[in-house]
Amino acid sequence: MNPLTPETFDANARAALTDEQLRSALRNATSLFGKRRLAAAGSIDNWEELRSQARAIKDETLLHLDQYLEEFTANAETAGAIIHWARDAAEANMIVCNLAHERNARLAVKSKSMVTEEIHLNTALEAAGIEAVETDLGEYIIQLAGETPSHIIAPAIHKTKKQIAELFANKLGIERTNDIAKLTSTARQVLRDKFAAADIGISGVNFAVAETGTILILENEGNIRFTTSLPKIHIALMGIEKVIPRFVDLEVFLKLLPRSGTGQHLTAYQSLITGTKRNADEEGPAELHIILLDNGRSRMLAHPTTRQSLACIRCGACLNACPVYQQIGGHAYGSVYPGPIGAVITPQLFGLAKASQLPYASSLCGACRDVCPVKIDIPQLLLYLRAEITEGSRQKTIGRPREKLPLKPVERLAFKMWAAVMTRPRLYEWSGKVFGVLQRLAIRNGKIGKLNGLLGRVAPPLRAWTAARDLRPIEAQTFREQWRKSLKRDV
Ligand code: SF4
Repeated sequence: MNPLTPETFDANARAALTDEQLRSALRNATSLFGKRRLAAAGSIDNWEELRSQARAIKDETLLHLDQYLEEFTANAETAGAIIHWARDAAEANMIVCNLAHERNARLAVKSKSMVTEEIHLNTALEAAGIEAVETDLGEYIIQLAGETPSHIIAPAIHKTKKQIAELFANKLGIERTNDIAKLTSTARQVLRDKFAAADIGISGVNFAVAETGTILILENEGNIRFTTSLPKIHIALMGIEKVIPRFVDLEVFLKLLPRSGTGQHLTAYQSLITGTKRNADEEGPAELHIILLDNGRSRMLAHPTTRQSLACIRCGACLNACPVYQQIGGHAYGSVYPGPIGAVITPQLFGLAKASQLPYASSLCGACRDVCPVKIDIPQLLLYLRAEITEGSRQKTIGRPREKLPLKPVERLAFKMWAAVMTRPRLYEWSGKVFGVLQRLAIRNGKIGKLNGLLGRVAPPLRAWTAARDLRPIEAQTFREQWRKSLKRDV
C-alpha cells in the first residue's frame, strides 16, 4: 500500500521531484490528455454553454439534494434495487461485508470506483476473508503492485511500460515482454476466470438519475459489463452527490465528461442499470444493492462556498492541467483524491488538520478552473481553505468541532505590525525609506539573492522566500516620491 499521507505532502513532493522516471511518465500522459481534451472540446460549438448548463444542473441538485435523493431511492426501489445509507466509511464497509457474509461470498470482482478507494473497501474485504479483484486494467496493475491510484481516471498513469512488464513477469509468472498486446491479453485471461468465479460484483456510479432510479456507469474496457451482470449480486457504491434530477440531463454530462477526461467523444461503454433483471432467463444480477455514502459530504453541502466541491464529476481534467500535479503526480498528495480537486476535497473529507498542506499545493494559476467541465472555482476554494487554516478554525466551513490551528506568536506580531503600517500613510512612507536603506546590506549584482547569516536569521520568511528565487530591490525612489516629482513636472 502507498504509505504516503497528506500530512507529509511537502516531503512527498520533494521526493517525487527527484524521480525522473515518474516525471517523464507524467509529462507524456498529462500533455497527451490535455491535447485530446482541447481537440474534443473544440469539436462542439456550444462547449461553454454546456459547461454552464452542467453547473446549473449540479447547483439545482445540490440545493435540493434531499428531495432528489428521496426521489431516486423511491424509483430505484420500485425497479427492484435495495438502497442502503452509509454515514461514513466504516458503515459502508460493514454493509458490503455483511451482504457478502450472508451469502457466503468468497470472491468479489470490482470495477474502478473512487468511492471504494475512499473508504478502503479492499482492506475491509480482505480483513473479512473475501478476495477482491480489481478488473479495470489500470486498477489491476496497481493492485498487483500493492499501490494506490495516482490519477482519478488513469490509476496507473505513473507507471511506464517497462515497469508494468516487470510487474507482470514477477507477479503473474509470464515471460518478460514489452508487447502491450501480450500484457493486456494476459490480464484479460486472468480476469475472465475471476469474472466467471465471482460471487459478487462491486462497482461505483457516475450518475444516478432521480427521475427513473437508474444508475449510469462509464467505461472503456467492458469489465464493468462483466462486473455488473455476471455475478448474482451487484453492489454499487456512490457518494450522495452523484444524483441528477432528470434522464435528459445525462445528455449534457455525457458530452462533457468523456471529452474532459480522456478526450473521447463518448466512452466505449455506457451501462444504464435500472433495478434487477425482470425475468429469470434474462442476463443480469438477481440482487442490486445501492449504497449511498455521506462520509463528510453533508458538511461540504452545508456551506455555500464549499458546496461547489460536490459538483465534481471526477473527470480528472484539472489534474492534467495542473502544473503542480504534472511535476509530482498523485501519490505525493497522500490521498485517494489527488491534484487540484483533491487539494480541495481531501481536507474537507478527512479534516483540515490532517491535510493542511494541500490547499497550498497550488500556484493559483487558474488552469484547473478553466478546464473544469462544471466550472468549479477551485482557486476560490483553495483560498477559502487557506483562510480557514490561517484563522485557526475550520468551524465555519465544515461544522465539525473546533480544530485549533493557531497562529504562531511571531506571525501574530508580524500581521499586527503590517496592519499598523498599512493603515498609517506617513508610517508607510517612512518604513519604505528605512527598507530602502537596509536592503543595501543584501543587494548583490543588483538583486537580493539568498539571505543567509544574520539577515536570514532576523527575517526567516525572507530567507525562505529568497532560498528559491531572487527578490527585486525596492526602487531608489518610492512610488510616492516619483508621483510627487511627476506632478511638479506637469505643473
Ligand atoms: S474538479 Fe472539475 S476538472 Fe477536476 S475532476 Fe472535478 S469535474 Fe473534473
